[in-house]
Amino acid sequence: MQVFKFGGASVKDANGVKNIASLLQKVGYKNTLIVVSAMGKTTNALELVIKNYFENKTELQSALQEVKKYHNEILLDLFANENHQVFKKVTGFFNELNQFLETNKSPDYNFVYDQIIGYGELISTLIVSECLNAIGLKNNWIDVREHIKTDSYYRRANVNWEETQQLITTNFNKSILNITQGFLGSDANNFTTTLGREGSDYTAAIFAYCLNADNVTIWKDVPGVLNADPRYFENAQLLNQISYREAIELAFYGASVIHPKTLQPLQGKEIPLYVKSFLNPEAPGTRIGKNITLDPMVPCFIVKKNQVLISLSSLDFSYIVEENISEIFNLLHLYKMKVDVIQNSAISFSVCVDNIYNNLDKLLHHLKAKFKVTCHENVSLYTIRHYTQGAINQIEEGKTVLLKQLTQETVQVVSK
Ligand code: ADP
Ligand code: ASP
Ligand code: MG
Repeated sequence: MQVFKFGGASVKDANGVKNIASLLQKVGYKNTLIVVSAMGKTTNALELVIKNYFENKTELQSALQEVKKYHNEILLDLFANENHQVFKKVTGFFNELNQFLETNKSPDYNFVYDQIIGYGELISTLIVSECLNAIGLKNNWIDVREHIKTDSYYRRANVNWEETQQLITTNFNKSILNITQGFLGSDANNFTTTLGREGSDYTAAIFAYCLNADNVTIWKDVPGVLNADPRYFENAQLLNQISYREAIELAFYGASVIHPKTLQPLQGKEIPLYVKSFLNPEAPGTRIGKNITLDPMVPCFIVKKNQVLISLSSLDFSYIVEENISEIFNLLHLYKMKVDVIQNSAISFSVCVDNIYNNLDKLLHHLKAKFKVTCHENVSLYTIRHYTQGAINQIEEGKTVLLKQLTQETVQVVSK
C-alpha cells in the first residue's frame, strides 16, 4: 500500500485536479489511498462563514456564496456536461450545510466549527473522485468519518487508535484506488471532528499506520522539505534526506511543510515519508526515514510570525516557583495556547505563544489577577536548527531581539 496526500494548493483549480490524474498515471496508483484537503483556501473561507454565523452578520450568505461560486467554477471547468451527477452531489453537500445552519441550536463554537468546516474536504474529495472516474481512473470515494474515530475535543480532536485501527482493518478494501478526506474524523456520537488546522498530513499518517503502508507521499508546491520556507528566505535549499527525529523537530518548531503530528505514527512503524513536488512528480524530493543524517548538513530556518510574547513576574517580587508555573500552564492549556518557547528566572517567566484560537484577551485577564504582565503582540519567532554564528547574525540583523535561547542544536530568537 502507498498513501498519497494532496493539499489545498494542489487542488486549488481545475488544472490542479487534472494534474492529479496525470501524476497518478506517471507514478502509478496500484494499491493507493489518496487523502485530499479542501480546495485552495476553502477552509479559511468556511472559517469566515462560521464567524459570520456566530456574529449574526448579514454577510453570512455572501460568505457562503463565495464558497459555492468557487467550487462551481471548478466544476464547470472540469465537467462539460452539467447533467453529470457530480453537480447534484455537490449541491447535496451545500444543502446539508444550509440545513445545519438553519437548525443548529448549539452555542458551542468549536462544535459548530467542526460540523461546518468539514464540507471543504467532503466536496473537494467528491470532485477529485468524480474527475478521476471520468478520466478512467476508477476509484472508490470513502467517508473518512467512518474510519477515523476521535474524542470530542472539537477542532483538535485526539484519535481513538483502537477503534480507528479496527474500523480500517475491517472496512477498508486495499485492492482498489481509494479517495478520502484529510483533516476529519468523527466522535462517539458520529459528529464530525477535526484534527487541527493543516491536519490532512496527519490523516495520511493515521491510515498508513493502520494499513501498514509501505510509504506515504505528500505532494506539495515545493520540491520537498527545504532548509527554510521559500516565502521568507531566498535561496532555500532542498534537503535530500532527513531523519524522523529531525523532521519532528522542524515540524514542532513550525516548519509548516509537515503537520507536527504526522511523523510519530510513521516513525513507530518505520514507514518512510516522501515530500515531493506535484509539479515535478518524478523528481526524488525529500526522503524522511530512520537514522538518516541530514543531507546536506546546513542550518535550517523556521519562522513563525504573529506570535505573542508574554512576560510575567510576581506582584510582590516573590519567586516564580512550581506552583505558579503549573497554574500558568493550566491557563495556557485552558485557552488552547500553543507554547513555542519558555524562559524563566527567579522572579519572572516568559512564554512565546501562538494565539491560534483568539483567546489572548481572556488569558491576559486571568493572568493579570495574579501577576504583573507585559505582552508583545505580533512578534516573530525564529528557530535555527544546526545554527552557525553566520546564520544567527543573518536572523538578528536589523531587528530588536526580545528573547533568545540557545541549546546545543537549536537557537530560538523572538524579535520585533
Ligand atoms: P498544502 O497544499 O499541502 O496544504 P502547504 O501550503 O501547507 O501545503 O505547505 C507547503 C508550503 O509550505 C510551501 O509552499 C512553503 O511555502 C511552506 N514551507 C514552510 N516551511 C517549508 C520548508 N522548510 N520547506 C518547504 N516548504 C516550506
Ligand atoms: N483544509 C484543512 C486546513 O486548511 C486541512 C489541511 O489542509 O490539511 O487546515
Ligand atoms: Mg495546508
